[in-house]
Amino acid sequence: MLDPEQLSSTLAERLRVLLASRGITAPALIGIRSGGAWIAARLQAALDLPGEPGTLDISFYRDDFSRVGLDPQVRPSQIPFDIDARDIVLVDDVLHTGRTIRAALNEIFDYGRPRSVVLAVLVERDGRELPVQADVAATRLTLGADEYVRLDGPNPLSLTIQ
Ligand code: 5GP
Ligand code: MG
Repeated sequence: MLDPEQLSSTLAERLRVLLASRGITAPALIGIRSGGAWIAARLQAALDLPGEPGTLDISFYRDDFSRVGLDPQVRPSQIPFDIDARDIVLVDDVLHTGRTIRAALNEIFDYGRPRSVVLAVLVERDGRELPVQADVAATRLTLGADEYVRLDGPNPLSLTIQ
């Protein structure tokens, strides 16, 4: 089921159910730029939450000296609220190796100490290299190493596998 508008509302509904089951009524959303930022904005609206989501800017580079993996590069982030004791929902478009989320958690804990962190992603693909799993995902895809989920959004939202 890859109708992206449908995926987006599926994610919102699954997140709503998860938060309710945990008794979380005032979550603070943080989207990872750029793909996670507009999904976080959609979730913020779908869940009727006041204010704006925070954003983190994390990308990866491969330095010539590291033989394994990619190194995270964290750029200035915008988290316009105090995260101490908050229930955070970390939002990204695609979860793959888990390295982005690992870096995002480090960054969040540099800002403060949340009460909890939930991970919500639109697409969970295989290929994890770290013990990171999504708490909610709209869909799960098994892709070849040379395949990529192309997501364009938000208006209109499109999803293709290349
Ligand atoms: P990871 O750090 O888990 O390997 O990769 C996750 C990050 O890379 C996400 O922020 C996501 O935007 C990007 N990414 C990884 N695989 C894909 C993919 O197949 N499609 C898209 N659009 N982004 C991907
Ligand atoms: Mg990304």
